[in-house]
Amino acid sequence: MGRGGGDEGGAQDAVVTVDAAKEQATLSFARELPAGEVTLEIAYTGILNDKLRGFYLSKTKLRNYGVTQFEATDARRAFPCFDEPALKATFDVTLVVDSGDTAISNTKMVSDTPGPVAGKHTVAFGTTPKMSTYLLAWLVGDFQCSEGKSEGVKLRVCATPDKVKLTEFALEAAKWDLKYYDKYFGIKYPLKKLDLVAIPDFESGAMENFGCITFRETELLVDAREGALPTKKEVATTVAHEMAHQWFGDLVTPAWWDNLWLNEGFATWMESKAAAQWQPKWGIDQDVATDLNHTLDEDAGKITRPIRQAAETPAEINALFDDIAYGKAGAVIGMVEHWVGEETFRKGVQAYLAAHLYGNATAEDFWDAQTRVSGLPVDKVMRSFVEQPGVPLVVVGDENANGIPVSEGHFFISRQAASTGAGCSTFALPKCDPRDAPEWTVPLCVKGDGCTIEGPSGGVVTERPQGFLYADAGDKGYYRTAYTAEEWKALAANVETRLTPPERIGLLGDAWALMRGGQGSVGQYLDLVLAVKQDPDATVLDSALGKVGTIEAKIATDADRERLDAVVRREFGPVYAALGGPDKRESSDHADLRETLFDELGDAQDPAVLAEAENMTKQLFAGQKVADPVLADAAVALATVKGDAAMYEKMQRVSRNATDPDLKAAALHALTRFQSPELVMRTLLYAVSDEVRNQDTWTLITPLLARRATQDLAWEFVEQHWPAIERKATESTGTRIVEATGSFCTAERRDEVASFFAEHAVPGAERTLAKSIDSINDCIQLRAAQAPELRAWLDGQLGR
Ligand SMILES: [Zn+2]
Repeated sequence: MGRGGGDEGGAQDAVVTVDAAKEQATLSFARELPAGEVTLEIAYTGILNDKLRGFYLSKTKLRNYGVTQFEATDARRAFPCFDEPALKATFDVTLVVDSGDTAISNTKMVSDTPGPVAGKHTVAFGTTPKMSTYLLAWLVGDFQCSEGKSEGVKLRVCATPDKVKLTEFALEAAKWDLKYYDKYFGIKYPLKKLDLVAIPDFESGAMENFGCITFRETELLVDAREGALPTKKEVATTVAHEMAHQWFGDLVTPAWWDNLWLNEGFATWMESKAAAQWQPKWGIDQDVATDLNHTLDEDAGKITRPIRQAAETPAEINALFDDIAYGKAGAVIGMVEHWVGEETFRKGVQAYLAAHLYGNATAEDFWDAQTRVSGLPVDKVMRSFVEQPGVPLVVVGDENANGIPVSEGHFFISRQAASTGAGCSTFALPKCDPRDAPEWTVPLCVKGDGCTIEGPSGGVVTERPQGFLYADAGDKGYYRTAYTAEEWKALAANVETRLTPPERIGLLGDAWALMRGGQGSVGQYLDLVLAVKQDPDATVLDSALGKVGTIEAKIATDADRERLDAVVRREFGPVYAALGGPDKRESSDHADLRETLFDELGDAQDPAVLAEAENMTKQLFAGQKVADPVLADAAVALATVKGDAAMYEKMQRVSRNATDPDLKAAALHALTRFQSPELVMRTLLYAVSDEVRNQDTWTLITPLLARRATQDLAWEFVEQHWPAIERKATESTGTRIVEATGSFCTAERRDEVASFFAEHAVPGAERTLAKSIDSINDCIQLRAAQAPELRAWLDGQLGR
């Protein structure tokens, strides 16, 4: 019921009609409302749902929690409001909760009084700053917190009581970040407090609610002393990401969702910048390079979308939260910073924020500020990357009398995509004609020489500054580079001595992508893998050898798979042996390298490594200490592949009983590694049982669908148990499963996938389905083109 009235007109009741499809309510009044300010009183009720959005119920074994998740369009599920980001308002939240329960919201609590009835108390929070509805939050339960202070701001990291001991690490990260951001942005954090809270059931990774950030438990909680480095990195970058949003997103907010990429791209870029400054030894730059390869490959597919895209309905808006909005937008921002210079870029960020405090802005406001401050055509560059889909290809030509010609093209990751000339999104992009090739304005940075701006016509010549030419200094460019055979040779000869680790990862990425696109061979790629075999950086080796598994899954026949394993053992076995055993004084880099090679050699069926893995796993499961704890995780991962029911049950017990969310998630994931058909079936049935949280159902099913050895069984299960999966579905479950079917590599499966999802439509997953079908087609073509190349390369290595 609605009731409205002005100061003079007196109150009147409204007739309320609801348009469920539009998620809109209309309030009609019999008498015209007077001009000026009007007060609207709305009484309403809602339900605490289990769909992880709006005001929803989150459960542990011990009790229930009432928590919120409003981005993008779900504040309206909790209360009637003008639920659009540009309609900013202040909010006064008051909650009536059970005695003994606590509540957390965006601002500090201002009063806590018993009543209004026995067994309840009323908690009121201070008025929020002017902000968008999607950033409001309130959390009810028995959360406990560790507390600290930074720059005069009270910081808390909170969790369910059993997990509060895992909050110290995030608190240290948050303290450091607050100081860093206050300085970086030149604007003090605007609230008096900041809470970071781990929620037992949570759909996304984390949510940047103003002053009250919420997290999936694995993204916030880690043992400060014993926690694994990848988990610490994950927590540190997620905390840095969400805290960057407090300024970039919360204080200044995109006017509409078409520009949410500016929010997410900026925070994605900033999370790595901040974490790399906090922990310089973590090799975050290598992680960024690895992510960039992944994003470029995605964006070079037949189906992609421009960074900025119109979206009106909730489904369209939710579909925008993808790797283009996070990964590509972040990489483009990183490229611009590298080109204009760190300090100049920072001044541009400050100018943009200062001009729009507590308001809304557009991408134009951002790049105009950067253009003004730098005096460089940032607007032209950004517009060309933001409004056009796909990946530029920089082609380095043969040297001539004038120097080295450089030209620009459009890169496609598969021959199929190139031949259809795609690059157009399949939805909500009415004006895209596939024959219109995009034309980018690219800041091209040559190693050892500065950056120049390359227009679509290219033709600019450059010197060879170091005796070889690497056209992507720092691996910051959002493009692929194709070199002549001569330049490739020169690069391979210098890769270990003259390129930085991120540049090596970038070069490996270029070689891999060009091979997939039909401009190179798998043999050329494998030559480069052998050229980096002595690399001291584990991430570089990971990046190189990780693709060997893909070659085995997608290109190799059974016989070739065995031969490729033999080459890996022959080449990398001695490198691993030379590293020696565990040593208390070894550096973390050395330990990482040992673990990476142990893992890769295990995948290559090295009998000694596999035996060691099995042994170590037995010891670990018996609760014994192992001699080389660095290898423990890799050992368990290798041993579980052939593990039996007894091992499976032990792992399942760990996943049920562990309180450390990282360990719990790892144990749950480990269940997907067992490959005996009986155990694969058990995992699938477990995934749709009530014992597994809805948020975890897809995380159990999709690895089984994606892995060659288990995918047929998993697919059969999905087809036969779809209603059970739907019963457990959260917003992303269906899409993730559709995405995983892209790992198939036969025409038969492609047709089955297409017809199954035509009959069992997954709302919002249309684009993902089209991508999966394309990815299967790409794989079929890749296998046809590269299987003979692989055989020839193996013949060269091993003889026929
Ligand atoms: Zn974000």
